[in-house]
Amino acid sequence: MPRVKLVAGNWKMYTTAGSARDLAAAVRNGLGAEDRVAVALCPPFPWLPIVAEALAGSRISLGAQDVYPEKEGAFTGEVSPGMLLDAGCRYVIVGHSERRHVIGEKDTLINLKARAALEAGLSVILCVGEKLEERDANKTESVLDNQLTWGLRDVSSSQVDRLVVAYEPVWAIGTGRNATPEQAQQAHVFLRWRFSQLYGEKSANSLLIQYGGSVKADNAKDLLSQADVDGALVGGASLKADSFLAIVRAALP
Ligand code: PEP
Repeated sequence: MPRVKLVAGNWKMYTTAGSARDLAAAVRNGLGAEDRVAVALCPPFPWLPIVAEALAGSRISLGAQDVYPEKEGAFTGEVSPGMLLDAGCRYVIVGHSERRHVIGEKDTLINLKARAALEAGLSVILCVGEKLEERDANKTESVLDNQLTWGLRDVSSSQVDRLVVAYEPVWAIGTGRNATPEQAQQAHVFLRWRFSQLYGEKSANSLLIQYGGSVKADNAKDLLSQADVDGALVGGASLKADSFLAIVRAALP
């Protein structure tokens, strides 16, 4: 079965209540009845209900940008997997490079988040990616191996059909400098091979591996036409309906 690509917009800490509603509505209208590519929007936490309402009855899924690995409790400022489900989320991004490298999250916490979200029934977009100095030191594969293996520690094989991996080289995120299609393909092949060691070939063949890092309307087609690039996680270019929709169209088979 060919893999259906997933294009997800990560709005990061941008938009207002009003612009989030308008952006979701514009993406919805622009997408129309297109069903050959899966689409998700990940707004900031406070706008989840607003965007859920704007997307209600559409094919576009709602996603969150983070989650805390507890059901409830005295965790000021945090949001549980159950709360995200209640808000209408299907996806949650875990281990984004801004959380790893700006906020300081470690693989152990990322693993707890992935496990808790999967156990609750969410689909997890697990982000992995090397820094520039790691790429320059030929450490890309060992970094990806480490982040994937740690991120999925104790995740059962029955849960990985709700897992998406996003390869996001840190040096390409928000920098305007995307990985070349060949660099992306090479990393995706490695990740799929490593995943097949962990969960078997069948699961690896159906695993969606998105590319993220300065995906724009004008480079999307080249990246998304690589055999192992199964969609995109889009930051900056997801904040305008036109550029996001152009990327979605570039993902069409
Ligand atoms: C991201 O936020 O995951 C991302 C890839 O950002 P950008 O597209 O802006 O590089």
